[in-house]
Amino acid sequence: MAVKKTELSKRATDVLRLLKREYPVAICELTHESAFQLLAATILSAQCTDVRVNMVTPALFDSYPTPAKLAKAEVAHVEQLVRSTGFYQTKAKNLVGMASQVMSRFDGEVPREIEDLITLPGVGRKTANVLRSVVFDLPGLPVDTHVGRLSRRLGLTKLEDPVKVEYELNAMLPPPEWGQFSLRLILHGRRVCDAKKPKCEECLLEKLCPSSNLPTKKPVKKSVKKPAKRLGKTVIKKAKKKVAKK
Ligand code: SF4
Repeated sequence: MAVKKTELSKRATDVLRLLKREYPVAICELTHESAFQLLAATILSAQCTDVRVNMVTPALFDSYPTPAKLAKAEVAHVEQLVRSTGFYQTKAKNLVGMASQVMSRFDGEVPREIEDLITLPGVGRKTANVLRSVVFDLPGLPVDTHVGRLSRRLGLTKLEDPVKVEYELNAMLPPPEWGQFSLRLILHGRRVCDAKKPKCEECLLEKLCPSSNLPTKKPVKKSVKKPAKRLGKTVIKKAKKKVAKK
């Protein structure tokens, strides 16, 4: 039976209330000192951990502290600096392209409007919403893999498309709460609601979660023969798409 919108809003509000209690301080874990630095770090975080990104950004920002400097960078040098984050050629090209466009179209200032942000190379709605909610203190609900997974497990959405999930969640909570809701779901996804082994028995959302104590996913047996090369290419293609527009 379909769950009413008001019930979903109530559930989302209850989830947020409990998560606030569990994670009173929810901050973005990408190290940054400006909108430009967070934008660059978020572009690098596609298919990569925040810890790894935080290892490469000090050298990147030492060499290129501003959009003006990065816009004039040799892509090959940026590639060297960001190599360990994976997909480094695409990311380096996007970083230099982003900086060039920030200079040529936005007078060197990172724009605040989502419609402007998503026109920059390597920037999709998720990255744009990170910028809006973390540095500009504007409404923005980034939907990453954790936010999508938890929202589905908590019965807040059935959708897979992150943009559609974002719109559905936006309708359940007041705009000032969007960014913090996303950050706290990410924390909870990392610490408790693991993709393969959710720790439902120690989860503070257990009573209101329709997925609590579902059997965990069994690991896929390696002996199953697949067309390895073609599957590999498909996976790599999908990952490249995500990196190109995160
Ligand atoms: S009860 Fe289990 S499935 Fe639901 S949010 Fe908690 S850990 Fe995830």
